[in-house]
Amino acid sequence: MVYISKRLDSASKLKILGGLSRFDACGYPGIFSEEKASSFIYPAVGEKGRISRLFKVLQTNICEGNCFYCANRKDRNFPRYSFKPEELARLFMEEYKKGSVDGLFLSSAIFRDANYSQERMQETLKLVRKRYSFPGYIHFKILPGADRKLIEEAAKFADRLSINLEAPKERYLVKLSPTKNFYHQLLKGLSDIFYVVRKKDVRAGITTQLVVGAAGESDQEILKLSHQLYQNYGLRRIYYKSFSPVEETPLEDTRPCPLLRELRLYQAGFLLKYYFFKPEELRFKKGNLPLNNDPKLAWAFAHQEFFPIEINKSDYRELLRVPGIGRIGAKKIIEVRKKAKLKDLTDLRRLKVMVRKARNFITIAGKFFPTKQREDRRVNERQLFLWEEL
Ligand code: SF4
Repeated sequence: MVYISKRLDSASKLKILGGLSRFDACGYPGIFSEEKASSFIYPAVGEKGRISRLFKVLQTNICEGNCFYCANRKDRNFPRYSFKPEELARLFMEEYKKGSVDGLFLSSAIFRDANYSQERMQETLKLVRKRYSFPGYIHFKILPGADRKLIEEAAKFADRLSINLEAPKERYLVKLSPTKNFYHQLLKGLSDIFYVVRKKDVRAGITTQLVVGAAGESDQEILKLSHQLYQNYGLRRIYYKSFSPVEETPLEDTRPCPLLRELRLYQAGFLLKYYFFKPEELRFKKGNLPLNNDPKLAWAFAHQEFFPIEINKSDYRELLRVPGIGRIGAKKIIEVRKKAKLKDLTDLRRLKVMVRKARNFITIAGKFFPTKQREDRRVNERQLFLWEEL
């Protein structure tokens, strides 16, 4: 039985619906940021590593959906709450004016049907943008099955539109949700968003999210789909949410997915999006990325014939293949060497290169500077933080 409460004050509802919105927060508590999330304030990391504090909340947790992993599923017996659009827009603006948040991340469970819930969210969105003239970042969820005209309207006001694909294939989605359809709802929703945001007058970018580790899908399948989505839909980012069981759901006894798997997927996803890697180049063991090395290092160990490369001669793409040299480092190397050749590791250290890693795979002015074996192991075993150069 679902208990719908009408009595709770706004602040208490915010605590609850903010907390519940975190069930689809990725990397919590530590992959993206060392900053702690509070019930409704979520530290999100942008493309250049800048942290924004997002007001992350559900419009409602009343849901017609019954996804096996979700705290808000219809058959789970716990109190349900809803915000009126005016109430939620006002609460957000109060926090924004206090300086406690920089942006809004608005999501919702599916109350009555997708269009009804989407319209309620959209009212909130419009109030925030039009009545309160909020100028900052808004991430807005599109619900599975929502009409395209609602997406068109949302795209005028939001900076990001997202719909969660949840799984890389239909056969995995059925293990996660009896109420979602991979092709007719989720992929179609993503494609609708893509055709809407292609128009010039629209400001929104697109993201999606997959649940990892609950349905038996492999990293290889996830990354193959990720590559297609980056290529075909120009997604800003794909989020990977490591599965964590929720009590009183059908998957409560399923083992949680290690956060390290999530991190490796993010690193591999970056290689696909920014480093010109193809999924078939990545190293997999029984379909999954190795956990002990980051995926670029694993590729480098398997391709000794490619190394060492000369730092003064290699082009941008070749430099990007070197563990420890990222996009910023590669660009700086190319810029600096136009004026004078790099001579040694000290020259490289100034250019945002993780020298301890890179030195085993490069020569500088013809000289090789490998680490000693013991140090090698220490460097390779260290877990990379996501925003360090890969
Ligand atoms: S549709 Fe599924 S994932 Fe979304 S809130 Fe409802 S039960 Fe949860």
